[in-house]
Amino acid sequence: MNTPPTTGDSRLNAARRERDLELATGEQIADVLVVGLGVTGAGVALDAVSRGLSVVAVDAHDLAFGTSRWSSKLAHGGLLYLASLQLGIAHESAVERGILMTRTAPHLTRPIPWLIPLTRSTSHTAAFLDLAAFAAGDLLRRAAHTPSSLLPPPRRISRTAALAIAPGLKQDGLRGAVLGWDCQLEDDARLVVRGGPHGRRPRCADPHSHPRASGVRRRRTGARRAHR
Ligand SMILES: Cc1cc2nc3c(=O)[nH]c(=O)nc-3n(C[C@H](O)[C@H](O)[C@H](O)COP(=O)(O)OP(=O)(O)OC[C@H]3O[C@@H](n4cnc5c(N)ncnc54)[C@H](O)[C@@H]3O)c2cc1C
Repeated sequence: MNTPPTTGDSRLNAARRERDLELATGEQIADVLVVGLGVTGAGVALDAVSRGLSVVAVDAHDLAFGTSRWSSKLAHGGLLYLASLQLGIAHESAVERGILMTRTAPHLTRPIPWLIPLTRSTSHTAAFLDLAAFAAGDLLRRAAHTPSSLLPPPRRISRTAALAIAPGLKQDGLRGAVLGWDCQLEDDARLVVRGGPHGRRPRCADPHSHPRASGVRRRRTGARRAHR
C-alpha cells in the first residue's frame, strides 16, 4: 500500500491546507478514512495517527459542527449509569473522566460542584439517599484511581457553606446541602480540535470545502500491521 509521508509539522496554515487537500484528494492511498469530525471521529483519527496509520479525515461542515459543540459540557463519571445498574459503562465513564482530567485535557476540564439543597421539607431518608448516591459515584472515582484532590468526596455542608457556593439558593427553610463533585469541560468544541500527541495530526481535508461522504467504494481489500 502506498502510504503518504508524515511531515511531523502540525502548524495549521495556508501551506498546510494546500498540502493536506492535495494529499487527501490525490492518488496516494491512506490507511484510514474518517468521515465526520465530531468528538468520535476526531478521537478515532487521533488514535489511528498515534498508532502510525495514515489518516484522511473529512467533515461535511466543520470540526465539531454537530452535537459535539452543543453538549451540556459535562464529563460525568458514570453515576447516571449506576442508576440503571450498568456497572461496566459506569466504570468506563469514571476511567475516561479521570484520563481527561489528569492526562489528555487537564487544561480543558475543571471540577464542578453539585449541590442538592436540604430544606425543612427534606426528610432524613431523602437526605441520606442523596448522600448515598454521591457516595456511590465517589466509589467509581476511587475505582478509577482519580485523585480526591481533583474530585473531593461528597459531604453534607452547612446552610452558610451552601449559600457561599450557590448564592441564588432560596434561603427560606434552607438547612444545608449535600455536596458532590463531577467534571465539566471548559469548551466541548475545543476538546474536539485539540492537538494530537507529539504534534501528529490526521490530514484533514479543508473543512471549508465541505467534503460530504456520499458512499464508500471498495477498490482494494487487505490489512497491514501498523508499526509505531
Ligand atoms: C443537548 C445535548 C447535551 C449533551 N450533553 C452531554 C454531556 O454533558 N456529556 C457527554 O459526554 N455527552 C453529552 N451529549 C452527547 C454528546 O454530545 C454526543 O454523544 C457526541 O457529541 C456525539 O459525537 P459524534 O462525533 O458521534 O457526532 P457529532 O458531534 O454529531 O459529529 C458528526 C459529524 O459528522 C459530520 N457528518 C455527518 N454526515 C457526514 C457525511 N456524510 N460526510 C461528512 N461528514 C458528515 C457532521 O458534519 C458532524 O460534524 C449531549 C448531547 C446533546 C444533544
